Amino acid sequence: MPDKGRAAIYRGLGHPMEIVEYPVPEPEPGAVLVKVRRANICGSDIHIWRGDIDIAAMGAPLPIILGHETVGTVARLGEGVVADSAGEPLAVGDRVVHRIFYTCGHCRACLKGMDPACPLAPIAVYSPCEEYPHFLGAYAEYYYIRPGQKIFKVPDDLTDEMAAPVNCALAQVIYGLERVGFGYGETIAIQGAGGLGICATAVAREMGAEKVIVIDGIEERLELARAFGADEVIDMNELKTPEERFMRVRELTGGWGADVVAELVGYPHVIPEGIDMLGNSGRYLSMGTISLGMTYEADPALLVMGNKSIVGVMLYGPDTLKKALDFLRRAKDKYPFDRVLSRPYALEEINKAFEEQEKGLVTRATIIL
Ligand SMILES: [Zn+2]
Ligand SMILES: [Zn+2]
Repeated sequence: MPDKGRAAIYRGLGHPMEIVEYPVPEPEPGAVLVKVRRANICGSDIHIWRGDIDIAAMGAPLPIILGHETVGTVARLGEGVVADSAGEPLAVGDRVVHRIFYTCGHCRACLKGMDPACPLAPIAVYSPCEEYPHFLGAYAEYYYIRPGQKIFKVPDDLTDEMAAPVNCALAQVIYGLERVGFGYGETIAIQGAGGLGICATAVAREMGAEKVIVIDGIEERLELARAFGADEVIDMNELKTPEERFMRVRELTGGWGADVVAELVGYPHVIPEGIDMLGNSGRYLSMGTISLGMTYEADPALLVMGNKSIVGVMLYGPDTLKKALDFLRRAKDKYPFDRVLSRPYALEEINKAFEEQEKGLVTRATIIL
């Protein structure tokens, strides 16, 4: 194995990402060093790169290596690691995916089994790269899995292309729908048919949804949502006002409103409209908007009077990634995952890949290593 590996580092807003080399780390006991095979550009990476999310203000020390949606192979195993987090034997060369964060294990959230709410978790997604073990972001030749961080073997029947985004969008929506207690026979309205929305459509379908309604303003996305199990779509170019869309959701849910509405857009202005779409006892899943300081106005009496709730969900549980892999094995022939094909770029083309994805020239760019 070479002693050095390449990484694209992010120094902060306005700086293009730069390719540097770091020494390939020897894993400490319990850790795993992964050779990255591919790393996608996620919406949150774009938000950081564009400056919508100030990660320095969130406590991330710059420079860092961005990127978290990745699949790779085990390059080195730290002392004591013989199995993945589900107990499957693990060896050098095995393909793996990992939970994109690690947790402290002893705070109040960790102790009560809610470790995605560990204060360490959001910070752990973005860690400094100048010191050992350097490789804590996915836009690099290696990725370092810390002791205790969840890691799962990728089944042979899943391609790299299918496996790379599993640790973000798919895992997040599975956990989000569990957290709002989405149940068999319920209705759901999904705001936004991007990566998260498309995954949520198929997951809600597989969870036994009575009706899945997807709202977006881009025709191709709505078309894709249909292919992933949406019963009804609402085109924002046809129903232009929140009032019209609210009436349509009411109509499609027998006059009641949706049991669950999921915000998977990324902008808070859609939230009041989504809350309106809830029927009494409905739950609003707030997941897409992670830009601090972007706010919305809402009437709390509407929640109180209908016994409605808002649940904020970020990241996902220790078992979710395993469920996401299992979901994909069951669902891969049922939904056209090949239609969400990503376009490949080399690590050296990373700035171009970000620019092209931001301009909408590609839906999902992937860095091949
Ligand atoms: Zn992501
Ligand atoms: Zn904790």
